[in-house]
Formats: sequence, C-alpha cells, structure tokens
Amino acid sequence: MSIKHIVEAGRWVLIASGLAGIVALYHHFPRANNTTVSLTLLLLVLVFAGSWGLRYAIGASLAAALLFDCYFLPPVGTLTIGDTQNWIALFAFLGTALYASHLASRIREESHEADSRRLESEMLYRLGRQLLQPENVAQLLNFIPSSVANAFNSPAVTLYLADGDRIYLSDPKRISSPNVAWKPDDTPDTPSPELTRAEMVRDLREAMLHPVTNSTADGFPAVIPLRVGVRPTGVVLLETTSLSRETMEALSGLVSMSIERAEALEDSARSKAAKETERLRTALLDSVTHELRTPLTSIKASITSLLSQQALDAPARKDLLTVIDEESDRLNHLIEQAVEMAQLDANKVQLDLKPQSIAGLIYIAIEQSRSAQPSRDFRVSLSSFLPNVLADKAWIEKVLVNLLGNAMKYSPQDQPIFVSADPQKEMLSISVADRGTGIDPLEEGMIFDKFYRGPSQRNQVSGTGMGLAICRAIVNAHGGTIGVTSQLNHGSVFTFTLPIARPN
Ligand code: ADP
Repeated sequence: MSIKHIVEAGRWVLIASGLAGIVALYHHFPRANNTTVSLTLLLLVLVFAGSWGLRYAIGASLAAALLFDCYFLPPVGTLTIGDTQNWIALFAFLGTALYASHLASRIREESHEADSRRLESEMLYRLGRQLLQPENVAQLLNFIPSSVANAFNSPAVTLYLADGDRIYLSDPKRISSPNVAWKPDDTPDTPSPELTRAEMVRDLREAMLHPVTNSTADGFPAVIPLRVGVRPTGVVLLETTSLSRETMEALSGLVSMSIERAEALEDSARSKAAKETERLRTALLDSVTHELRTPLTSIKASITSLLSQQALDAPARKDLLTVIDEESDRLNHLIEQAVEMAQLDANKVQLDLKPQSIAGLIYIAIEQSRSAQPSRDFRVSLSSFLPNVLADKAWIEKVLVNLLGNAMKYSPQDQPIFVSADPQKEMLSISVADRGTGIDPLEEGMIFDKFYRGPSQRNQVSGTGMGLAICRAIVNAHGGTIGVTSQLNHGSVFTFTLPIARPN
C-alpha cells in the first residue's frame, strides 16, 4: 500500500469519525433541533471540501444526509421518512451540502492554482536574472540547463540547439528524450552513445516543431520548443516538473531571448574589437610614418648639407650637427616608447616594488624634464606629512616625466607647471597641472588610448600618442588609477594614485 492510499484511507476514517461524533453528540443532547444538527453537519462537510477537495465532500454529504435521515428525521431509527416536509428538508440539506462543497473545493483549487502561478512567476523572475549573468554565449549555454533545473526543481534538463545539433545537460549522466518516459530507478546508461545521440537528435528535432507539451504525469519530460520569431531554433526538455502552459511559454521566450541577447552582445564585442584593431593599425601606421619620417628627413638633410658643402663655417656645421643630435634623440625616444608599450601590453614588465619617497621621485623627474626647457617654472606643493609609496622607482619616474613633458608641450613656456601630492586613505594622489590648451571634454576619455592624439595637436606638436597609454598601463600595474580634469583654454590637471607603503 502506497503512502497515497494510506493518506486517503486516513481521511475517510476522519470523515466517518467526524460525522459519527456529531450524530452521537446531538443524539444524546435532545434539546438541539434538526436545523442545528443539519447546519453542524453542513459545516463539517464544508471543512472537508475546503481542505481535501470535492471527492471527499460528496462522500461526506451523502453520508451526512443518510445519518440525518436515520437519526433525526421521524420516524427516528429508520431510513424511511414519514412526512413530505421532512423529505423537503432532507433534499434541501443534501442539495446545499453538495453545492456548497462544490464552491468550497473550487475556491480551494483556484487558490492552489494562484499559488502555483505565483511560485512559477517568482521562479521565472529569478531565472531571468540569472540568465543575464554569463558574459558569453558558450558560458550561457552551459549555464541554462542547470539554472532551469534549479529554478524549477527538476532533476534533469536538456537544452538542444538545432544550429550545430548542440546538446547541453544539467546532469551529464542523465539524458532526457521527448519520447522516453523516465522512471526514478532508471539508469541513464545507453548501449551505444553514437546511436543514442543520433536518435536523440532526430527526436529533439521533431519535438522542436511541436507546441509546448507537459505530460510529466506519465513520466515524459515537458517539451518546451524555442523560437526566434516563428523560426524554431531548439528545444528544452524538463523532467518531472508540472508547469502551466503559460509558464512553459514564458520559459521558452526567456531562454530564446537570453541566447539571442548573448549572441548580439558577442557580435557587437567582436565588431568593436575588429574596429579597434583597425583603428590601432591605422593609428600606428600614421604615427610611425610621421614620427619616423620627420626626424629622418631632418637628419638626412643635415648630413647631405654637411657632405656637399665643404666650405661650411664652424657655427653652421655645429647647427647641423645639433639638429642631427636632437633628431636622433627623438627617434630614440620613439623606439623606447614603442618597446615599453609592447612590454606593458604583453605583461612582461616585472615591477620592483619598494617603499619610495614620492617627493624624491618628483624632484628627479623635474630635473630630467628641465633640460628641455631650462627656464620653465615648476612649482611643487607637497603635504607636510607624505608617507612613502609602494612603487617601482624607474617606471614611476617615467610616468612623471611623461606628464611633465606633456604639460610643457601643451602649455606656453612662460606659464608655470604645478606638481602636488596628497595622501588619501590608502592611496597617495599625485597631480601635474598646467595652464595650457586644455582638453575637450569629449576627448578626455580617449587620450589614454594607444596612439590617440588630439586633433589640434596632431600636426602642430610632435608626439606619438603613446605617452598617456604607457602612463595608464604603469599606474594600473601598481594598483592605482589615472585621470584628467580639464577646461579648454584654461589648462589640465592629470592625477594618478599609488598605494601607500605600509610600515613593517
Ligand atoms: P602625445 O603627447 O605624444 O600626443 P600622449 O599619449 O602623451 O601622446 O597624449 C595624448 C593626447 O592627449 C595628446 O595628443 C594631447 O591631445 C592630449 N594631452 C596630453 N597631455 C595634455 C596636456 N597637458 N594638455 C592638453 N592636452 C594634453
């Protein structure tokens, strides 16, 4: 005997004892009239209808009518009824009991239905949020079966996509098929994986064309076809979960949409990457050709003059040699930057992190930069208490030299350059400010990209567009951030942060 049968028998016993109890009570309590008895019996029938459903209520109503007739309607003690009035009373009792039972059990069913709809909506909502998490299509497709299985408490979910005949399982050991009923003690092993897969694909392809079906009661999985527009794209099989048609349709829409969304995101990321590669290629070509050609042209011209004009006086020769010297430095700088950029890109830089005094690094960088413009006014303002930073001396010097170099390039020579440093919680923030051309707000997000050069500077000031990209890579490798605030024609403030070194 199964648990279901035991529960059923128990309920009938309770119904019988309830009715017998009421009859016994009123039988030995003769002051209660027949109306009181019938109402009490009716109340009990309603309780059964509301708790266990119509089947039990009908049984209870019939039994109550018989007991009422036998024990309370004259002649008492027999199943016959003497007077017409009592016949009417008996049928009124039976009719009321049956109709009220029907209403009570309908309310019960509707409330169950509403509860399960609410639960299903909550599950769908949760699932919808989960399906937004994976970042690419492959991750999402592997994630769908297990998250659908979790959301709907299903032991096995199979996702089939027609494109490439791909099958994804929530439980790798349990494969569902639309045409195979599953029994709890089934073992999922199959005689020939090749054959099974071919058969499964055939069945799944067929199932994908049908509307949603839910026959989990017979052990078959719920079949939920996926569609994009009207085009069938795949199917989801859900074992031993009974879902409403509306929920299955919503689930189908949710899964199809999440796959479409992930594919669209991946496409857009791919085309963005392709565009970026193209931009970098063009920018690199522009930058390298321009930046290599300009110094090379000057060097070549100077050497040609030196070779062809033997009668040049000493000052003229010195001028030409100075040009060659400066332009070679420029070429050297360009190649150095390109090498640094490549190293940082390939994560080949080993930082030698040690506690460093930022004041020391600032003064060294200023000294290096001053050689280009000896008369430049650098104003340094440092907090009275400046903790050491955890940094690689050589790389942070490069950042400072780059920022100071830009400030010198993009602001008039007679304007000062301000350098400051302040501790902020766990980080130290260092700023380099100038009173120069400033940066268009639209460009502020782009100037840290590789090879980006401001359109107004591109042809007027020499540069490669690599300086700030290198600065950002170095600062990020230290765990800091770099940014700019600027006002066109008023100047810019570049600020970067470095972690403060903790005392041991
Ligand atoms: P480069 O200076 O070689 O062009 P950077 O990467 O150092 O390359 O700078 C990128 C762009 O950012 C510059 O072309 C310029 O438009 C802008 N920029 C950088 N620093 C400043 C500054 N201090 N003032 C105004 N614009 C700046």
